[in-house]
Amino acid sequence: MTAHQNFIAGAWIPAAQGATFERRNPADQSDRIGVFPASAAEDAARAVTAVEAGRQEWATAGAEARMRVLERAADIIEERAGDLAVELTREEGKTIASATTEWRRSAANLRLYAGEAVRTRGETFPVDGSLVHTRREPVGVVLAITPWNFPISIPSRKISPALAVGNGVIFKPSEVAPLTGQRFVEILLEAGVPAGAIALLQGRGADLGEALVTSPEVKAITFTGSYPTGCLIHRLAGPDKRLQLEMGGKNPCIVLGDADPVRAGEIIARGAFALTGQACTATSRAIVVGDLYDEVVGEVVKQAAAVRLGNGLDPDVTMGPLATKTQHEKVLGMVDIGKGEGLTLAFDGDDTGGGEPGGFFVGPKVFVDVPDDSLLAQEEIFGPVVCLQRAESYEAAVETANSVEYGLAASIVTKDFARALDFAKDIEAGIVKVNSATGGVALSAPFGGIKHSSNQTYKEQAGHGVMDFYTTVKTVYLAS
Ligand code: NAD
Repeated sequence: MTAHQNFIAGAWIPAAQGATFERRNPADQSDRIGVFPASAAEDAARAVTAVEAGRQEWATAGAEARMRVLERAADIIEERAGDLAVELTREEGKTIASATTEWRRSAANLRLYAGEAVRTRGETFPVDGSLVHTRREPVGVVLAITPWNFPISIPSRKISPALAVGNGVIFKPSEVAPLTGQRFVEILLEAGVPAGAIALLQGRGADLGEALVTSPEVKAITFTGSYPTGCLIHRLAGPDKRLQLEMGGKNPCIVLGDADPVRAGEIIARGAFALTGQACTATSRAIVVGDLYDEVVGEVVKQAAAVRLGNGLDPDVTMGPLATKTQHEKVLGMVDIGKGEGLTLAFDGDDTGGGEPGGFFVGPKVFVDVPDDSLLAQEEIFGPVVCLQRAESYEAAVETANSVEYGLAASIVTKDFARALDFAKDIEAGIVKVNSATGGVALSAPFGGIKHSSNQTYKEQAGHGVMDFYTTVKTVYLAS
């Protein structure tokens, strides 16, 4: 089995203490992905020193040169998307179709931000006697800490803009998807990112996170992951670092009485079961207003029954396993809590994953008549579990939708566009969808939550605006 390494100061090296961890395929525990360095504070310190010392070559390379390097990286990804997707499926468990789409999306991210390299600009101001203008500079060392559920599209939408404007980057991928993170760094280096401008650190956040987050040389931290980890990073980072924290969700889909129940059921099921429910924007609650409830439940159940659970490498499989044993235990534990609360399961999908041995499979689950105060209606589950709830009116549905601590994505199914616009105003969520699933977002539209879903400093993937996070603005007064 291959022993993989960190990338620090231009060299692939093991963790200073030699510690390692192993990753296996969540669909098939006999399939060993590789052994990776279990980095600690000493490795973090080396990486910070290396990128601080090595980032100048990239910062001074020129915007057009950086643009061409990022475009080359996108070309490489597109050429190899098939092989890269197989590795991603083996490592994280998602279907091969989702893995291919994710790598292609990452190439698109690189192209989008390659363009920003030459578009990010300052402004001039009419001040008598001086030429006053702003100039944008890279912030310096950017730390990207990322989750496992989108192990390449999230890193690429953070690291591409960071590099586009000349920052140095320390990349700490999730320990659940280390190989995909490594492949991204290999591709960036092959495309021409100077070796000193980037470091890859593998390992558990708990072992090296504090050393990274508290390092004075790290000027900006872009994090996506759970709310508790985000809170910890917020506390550790102190007042003088730029912080972007995108965290969990408990996303509702409201169905109004004028909706087509079949379409509504499809939208709910797509949001709930895509990516095995392991998307931050997954539909976790569906709140149905009026008499459509039984029909909508019937359609969600029909869609759940059509899911083909199994190893994501099989092209006929539509839902892979959960990514880890911990996730598996957590999701099954939440199902048990629901049963313990006396909730009814309208559909309880088979958990065996088509007979695959040793995989972390959970079939789709459809809970009905879930009260607002049930743990299942309040907590992020991050699995293929959807809770259906009844509401007497639009207002009651919105109250239920807003009754959780998260505020990432929300959707409404209705033919009434005036109501839909009310919803956009009334709902507490950073992403609002009308007649489409909570999951799935455009490449270049602002992305981010409110409430516990985000620290709400800078949106991600917001075209020109996103570059604010990765640049420092200086105001220059030029008098003759
Ligand atoms: P997690 O918080 O456990 O880990 C995320 C990253 O933080 C990993 O790289 C991990 O190693 C690192 N980390 C853990 N402890 C750390 C510490 N003490 N210091 C520094 N880094 C540390 O989250 P996860 O389980 O990987 O991902 C699932 C979560 O991510 C869910 O809550 C999901 O909703 C959220 N998520 C949010 C978005 C979004 O854009 N809002 C997108 C995807 C996932």
